[in-house]
Amino acid sequence: MELRFSPLFSGSSGNAIYAGCDGGHLLVDAGVTCLRLAAELKRIGISPAQLNGILVTHEHIDHIRGVSVLSRKYDIPVYATEGTWAAMEDKLGGVSMKNVRVFEPSEDFYVGGMNVSAFEIPHDAAQPVGYSIALGGARLSVATDIGHVRDSWLKAVAGSDAVVLESNYDPDMLKAGPYPYDLKKRILGRRGHLANDDASRAAVELIKRGARQIVLGHLSKENNFPELAERCCSLALCAAGIVPGEDASVCVAKRDSLTGIFSVRMCFT
Ligand SMILES: [Zn+2]
Ligand SMILES: [Zn+2]
Repeated sequence: MELRFSPLFSGSSGNAIYAGCDGGHLLVDAGVTCLRLAAELKRIGISPAQLNGILVTHEHIDHIRGVSVLSRKYDIPVYATEGTWAAMEDKLGGVSMKNVRVFEPSEDFYVGGMNVSAFEIPHDAAQPVGYSIALGGARLSVATDIGHVRDSWLKAVAGSDAVVLESNYDPDMLKAGPYPYDLKKRILGRRGHLANDDASRAAVELIKRGARQIVLGHLSKENNFPELAERCCSLALCAAGIVPGEDASVCVAKRDSLTGIFSVRMCFT
């Protein structure tokens, strides 16, 4: 059975990634309205009613905006850490008790026949995590909203065949841009977001440890350009002796619509 994934929305205005196989379907985050999610899912032939679960990374609104309506309307279980549940319950507007799933990041679990494991990430939220989703020998990881590169999450993601990796901002654009000082400080901080050069460094490490598909995601609208993020990553790969497009593919997830349907081993965009 093949593991597939599709970034549906990626960026500060909303995030959702579909992952699935013939036997099961899930979303990592549901950060846009239920209506918009249903429309993008339809483009890949999935009805929201088919979803076996929503995995929430953390409580920021760009990751949970559509969670409660989606869960209530289609009776879908929602998975999050205890800290994330405590922090997002008020914002959610109600998820039926029977669909509340709390897990420990150290324990893996199954959703729709796929193995799910979570790993802790440095971000300014209550108990944020990234996810690895595995089926057979194939593994996809989602690593976004990460303040800095450190061994703990890099080790958890290492060995994944495909990675959706945050490449949030270009530091010069951020510093020169219109954001207020406190927001700039937050983004640049160790629990903020990942800069293009940090993401590129992580991509090199992950490719050396087996990744064949890197999808750069969660780009800032104000402080980045897709071409810039991709170029920064390609240059880092070349400098490390990795040939982009041959040894590994790199692309950028679209902000407001479906990026493509990826097989964890092969890509059909
Ligand atoms: Zn966040
Ligand atoms: Zn975010």
